[in-house]
Amino acid sequence: MTRREHEITDMNRITEILDKCKIVHLAFIDEGKPYLLPMNYGYTMEDGRLTLYVHSATEGHKLDVIRENPTVSFEMECDLEPFEGKVACQYGLAYSTVFGMGTAEILDDPKEKGAALSNLMKVQSGKDFTFDEKMVSIVSVIKIRVTEYAAKHRAVPEGLQK
Ligand SMILES: Cc1cc2nc3c(=O)[nH]c(=O)nc-3n(C[C@H](O)[C@H](O)[C@H](O)COP(=O)(O)OP(=O)(O)OC[C@H]3O[C@@H](n4cnc5c(N)ncnc54)[C@H](O)[C@@H]3O)c2cc1C
Repeated sequence: MTRREHEITDMNRITEILDKCKIVHLAFIDEGKPYLLPMNYGYTMEDGRLTLYVHSATEGHKLDVIRENPTVSFEMECDLEPFEGKVACQYGLAYSTVFGMGTAEILDDPKEKGAALSNLMKVQSGKDFTFDEKMVSIVSVIKIRVTEYAAKHRAVPEGLQK
């Protein structure tokens, strides 16, 4: 992936962004066309390897799309702060973002699904929840093994107003 301006490589900063964003924009390939959905997510970061978890109903178009083509791309953003300048081209938006690509897998194993749902709830709410087999049986859980990712932070430029 091309390295760009404002890139963050500090793993602590990247996990801070992942903790904050709450919504991932997840893009699938639907018979050659993009199919993009916002979803809540959980994640793990182990030795720099990022995995995302999302959950959904047990039926729906995205599940059919994943079965046909598990390749996904994603983006999430937070810390949005509009800023102003004297002329239109100085206006802008400060942000933090993580972008990447990966492979989606619909999980079958109830234990793995339960652990993923606990992770998702922890990331979303900061609270600990456990899930029994009956609870996990009524949702689908999608694991996304992220193959590459990059993070960026654009600050409000010095001298410009928030
Ligand atoms: C902020 C936010 C967070 C969300 N978090 C989750 C989540 O964690 N888990 C989850 O399962 N869903 C979540 N959703 C809903 C999600 O974006 C999808 O709408 C939902 O998962 C159904 O997707 P599907 O492919 O199964 O569509 P289906 O139910 O099969 O519907 C098919 C059709 O509905 C239309 N459609 C699908 N999604 C949308 C949409 N978002 N807006 C308008 N039209 C749409 C499209 O025409 C699509 O082809 C969230 C939505 C928002 C806005």
